[in-house]
Amino acid sequence: MLNYDYDLIIIGGGVGGSALAAGMAAAGARTLILEAEQSFRDRVRGEAVMPWGVTEARQLGLLDVLEKAGANPLPFWDSYQGPDRSGHRDLTRTTRAKEPVIACYHPALQTALLQHAEASGAQVWRGARVSGLTPRSPSPNPIVSLERNGTPLQLSARLVAGADGRNSPTRGWANFPVLRDPERNLVSGVLLDGVDLPQDATHAWLDTAKGHFILNFPQGQGRARVYLCYPAGSAKRYGGPDDIREVLAQCIASGVPAEAYRQATPAGPLATFDGRTSWAESAYRNGVALLGDAAANTDPTWGQGLSMAFRDARALTEQLLAHNDWDAAGKAYAEARQQPFSVVHAMENWQSQLLLDTGPDADAARARAFQSWRDDRTRNPDTFLSGPAEPLTEPHRRRFFGEA
Ligand SMILES: Cc1cc2nc3c(=O)[nH]c(=O)nc-3n(C[C@H](O)[C@H](O)[C@H](O)COP(=O)(O)OP(=O)(O)OC[C@H]3O[C@@H](n4cnc5c(N)ncnc54)[C@H](O)[C@@H]3O)c2cc1C
Repeated sequence: MLNYDYDLIIIGGGVGGSALAAGMAAAGARTLILEAEQSFRDRVRGEAVMPWGVTEARQLGLLDVLEKAGANPLPFWDSYQGPDRSGHRDLTRTTRAKEPVIACYHPALQTALLQHAEASGAQVWRGARVSGLTPRSPSPNPIVSLERNGTPLQLSARLVAGADGRNSPTRGWANFPVLRDPERNLVSGVLLDGVDLPQDATHAWLDTAKGHFILNFPQGQGRARVYLCYPAGSAKRYGGPDDIREVLAQCIASGVPAEAYRQATPAGPLATFDGRTSWAESAYRNGVALLGDAAANTDPTWGQGLSMAFRDARALTEQLLAHNDWDAAGKAYAEARQQPFSVVHAMENWQSQLLLDTGPDADAARARAFQSWRDDRTRNPDTFLSGPAEPLTEPHRRRFFGEA
């Protein structure tokens, strides 16, 4: 008989870690979250939960928590090419989820979810930075090394969940093989006050000549998170207050009306990220499960990360509660994760290639695909908004690109 300090130790109190902790602690598991930060700051992360992620959050019983964190529902998705609006979609009627996008300032979201995990019975240690992990083999159960208030500690658990984000050190400590896409997009983000755009819609501009995709997610009262997605390569990586005007000028040159940002002032830092996806070959090994960005940080251009983190938390909770053997639960979770991830990943690559590649060949490919979509809407699966429900195979790819 093995003794553990905890049933479950979760490394990282982000969306994925806190959602998992709340469900497991509420079911009676002795759960500890280790979160390095004492308080959360704006790290320029995801703040828009797609409609299918809202369904996941609803299933986890977390919608109230999102509302308390100040979530702003965005029922409409407005698309633009140049200054002209090309689409005005009601997501609450036209997505499988029948939900809006929900936009929420990420430090407030993290704080509210972590507090909810604690209220559900999880122990939460803030300022506890994990420095190492010994997986279950060769030791009989995984052991986490950390520092808390300057004191080094070691704790064991029946299962450790790595929910430590896009640079996940857990992946390395537990020897997860990690795969990486080639570089393609960069994503710059900044929070602005005083943005003059309707507050009930996501506003998305596509500039195919430059390969720019610009997203504005209003959070209410003129505050909006603005992302500029642009090709990698020799392009500049914007960062720091001096670059904010340049980013907004790029957005305006790609179609955002200048009036939208005329009164805008920064409400947080500007930062740029490499958009390429990197992922663990499997999300479980030797008593350690990965979830959220630690399992796979998807390309932020397409806004799937928060939804995947909620999905992972739900799926892992369900497997752990269904199995006495948590090794079997971890393996079942990892296997079931392959399909939704590979669908999101395939769609990210298809959309990036079709919408953001530049030049005459790319223009011709777009013209062919868009014509085929006008003839048959089902050629363009609604994965990003409605979720990764069906597998995507080679015939789907050919239909998407209008090749068959
Ligand atoms: C620019 C940008 C834009 C994005 N836009 C969107 C969007 O619009 N919609 C969307 O759905 N997704 C978006 N994403 C992705 C989204 O931010 C992530 O998918 C999501 O935050 C992942 O949540 P997580 O819980 O896995 O990790 P995180 O939110 O990164 O949380 C990880 C936590 O682990 C803690 N931690 C790390 N190391 C340690 C350690 N050693 N010890 C203890 N704690 C540790 C960190 O402090 C952090 O609190 C975007 C990402 C970026 C970069």
